[in-house]
Amino acid sequence: MGNQTFAIIKPDAVKNKDTGLILDRVLKAGFHIVAGKLLHMSLQQAEGFYEIHKGKPFYDELITFMSSGQCMVLALEKENAVEEWRNTIGSTNPDEAAEGTIRKDFATNVGLNAVHGSDSDENAQKEIAFFFSDGELRVN
Ligand code: UDP
Ligand code: MG
Repeated sequence: MGNQTFAIIKPDAVKNKDTGLILDRVLKAGFHIVAGKLLHMSLQQAEGFYEIHKGKPFYDELITFMSSGQCMVLALEKENAVEEWRNTIGSTNPDEAAEGTIRKDFATNVGLNAVHGSDSDENAQKEIAFFFSDGELRVN
């Protein structure tokens, strides 16, 4: 059980000015923000980040959306971080997300779903390394 995960506040949520409210959820849920930055992904970056979904019907829409505007990438720390963060964000489709989850409260639909969360410890480490250098990840 790892203690880090990777999150994105996606372009829909940034455009909707929900960044502050979502960061508040992150902190109130007990996560420590190890590193964070606002950036605008290129199409190539979005392709690389979502390579595991290449060939799926929603892939083109996904990479276009993720490179459509600014997002905030975050390296988060908490005991059992991957599972804890998935529980905090809720199901991929906001119609199926539990009450009180971030996607229930901020997502528009299954594509524009406000936030990302890693699905395993291994992918969390890969995703953190995709966006952050070692120097950005030093804690205190
Ligand atoms: N997605 C979509 N349609 C789908 C499934 C996924 O547009 O039917 C998008 C959505 O933005 C989702 C992302 O692709 O967050 C990655 O999909 P995944 O199945 O990994 O969901 P997640 O891990 O983000 O809950
Ligand atoms: Mg996923």
